[in-house]
Amino acid sequence: FTTLSLVSSQRKTSEEIMKEAVKLMPGGVNSPVRAFRSVGGNPIVFKKVKGSKVYDVDGNEYIDYVGTWGPAIVGHANDEVVKALKEAVENGTSFGAPCELENILARMVIDAVPSVEMVRFVNSGTEACMSALRLMRAYTGREKIIKFAGCFHGHADPYLVQAGSGVATLGLPDSPGVPKSTTENTLTAPYNDYQAVENLFHTYPNQIAGVILEPVVGNSGFILPDKSFLEGLRSLTRREGALLCFDEVMTGFRISYGGAQKYFNIQPDLTTFGKIIGGGLPVGAYGGRKDIMEMIAPSGPVYQSGTLSGNPLAMTAGIKTLEILKRPGTYEYLEQITSKLVNSMVAIAQDAGHAFTGGHLSAMFGFFFTSGTVKNFEDAKRSDLAKFQRFHRSMLEQGIYLAPSQFEAGFISLQHSERDIEETLQAFTRVMKEI
Ligand code: PLP
Repeated sequence: FTTLSLVSSQRKTSEEIMKEAVKLMPGGVNSPVRAFRSVGGNPIVFKKVKGSKVYDVDGNEYIDYVGTWGPAIVGHANDEVVKALKEAVENGTSFGAPCELENILARMVIDAVPSVEMVRFVNSGTEACMSALRLMRAYTGREKIIKFAGCFHGHADPYLVQAGSGVATLGLPDSPGVPKSTTENTLTAPYNDYQAVENLFHTYPNQIAGVILEPVVGNSGFILPDKSFLEGLRSLTRREGALLCFDEVMTGFRISYGGAQKYFNIQPDLTTFGKIIGGGLPVGAYGGRKDIMEMIAPSGPVYQSGTLSGNPLAMTAGIKTLEILKRPGTYEYLEQITSKLVNSMVAIAQDAGHAFTGGHLSAMFGFFFTSGTVKNFEDAKRSDLAKFQRFHRSMLEQGIYLAPSQFEAGFISLQHSERDIEETLQAFTRVMKEI
C-alpha cells in the first residue's frame, strides 16, 4: 500500500466495484451516507482497515477519522481484540442461550455508567433506541415522546422526524413508508432550547412518556450541549413524571469511560448504547434504573427479543475494547491529540480567511464552514455546504478520510499518532489554501 499523495486519484478498482454494486444494492451500499451523495464523487471501496488507517482496493492508504462511524476507538483491527476474537470463534459464532461473556460485559457497562443498574443487549443502536422507546411508554403509560431536531436515534419509524445523520444528508424531512399514525406522538424541539421543551410539557400535560437526546450531538455534525440544558431536562422530566433517555450510542465510552452522563454528571433514567461496546461487531444495548428495566420480558410484560442478542463474538470484542479503554491515560491521550487536531484546524482555517468553527470533547470532534457558534441543527444547516463538498474531496486526494457529510462527527482512536495528526494538519493547510 502507498499513501494516496503518491498515487493521486487512482481509484479505478473502487469505481468498477461500485459500478457493479449499484446494480445489486440500492445506491450500491447498505447504509445511505456511505454512498458519498452529499459530497459527490464515488465512494472508496475498502480492502482492509488497521490502526488509524484505512486501505482501499486500489492500494491507497488514508488516515481515517470515521472509525467505522465510532466503534474503532482502540484502533481498527486492534491486535488484542483480534486475538480475543480468534480464540472465541473456536467456541462457536452464536449460542442463542445464556453465556458468561454477557455477564462480564453487562457488569462492565453497569460499573462504568452511573445510571445503569441493569442492561439488555441487542444488535444495533437502532434496536436499542426502538426498545427504549417502548419501555418509556410502557413504564409511564403515556404515548408521546420528545426528540430534538437533528438528533438521530436510528431508523425506527417513530424517530424519523427531523432526524439527523443520513436523513439530514439526503434532505429528507421524513421517510415515505412511515405512517403518520406512527409519528404523530413524536414531538420535536430545537436542541439546546430548554424553553421549547417546557412549552411542550405545558401543551401536552401528562401525555409525554419521555425525552430522548444525544447528550453530545454527532448527527447534525458535532454540537455541544449547554450543561444547563441537560440539567434542565433532568429536573423537568422528573417533575413531570416523564423519563429521560440519553442516547449514548455514539458518546458511550467515548466522551469518557462512563459516557457523556459521567462527564456532565447527570443521571438519565435510561441510556442506549451501540458502537464501542461491540468493539466493531454488531451490538447495541439499553439500560437504566432497575425498576424500569425489570419491566422487560421475561421479568415483565414489555416484549423485546433477538436471535443474535448477546452474541459471544460481539461480547468478546466489546469486553476487550472496554478493557483497553480502562487502562490509565487513555482518555487523557485521546483528549490531547483531538484538541491538538481541532484547535490547529480552527487556527489554520481562520488564518487562511475561511469562516470556520470547530469543537471537540474527548475523542469526538467536528467543524462547520460558518463563523457563528453552532447550537442546533438550524445553525448547522446555515454552514457552507458547497465548500464542505470541495473540502472533503480535496482532503481525500491528500489521503485523509473524513465522514462524507457535513452532518457527521469525526472520531479519533488510541492508534492515532502525533505523526498522523501532523500529516493531517499539513494536508489541511494545503487544502485551506486551495478551496
Ligand atoms: N443513535 C445514535 C446517536 C447514532 O449515532 C446511531 C448511529 O449512528 C444510532 C442511534 C443507530 O445505531 P445503528 O446504526 O447501530 O443502528
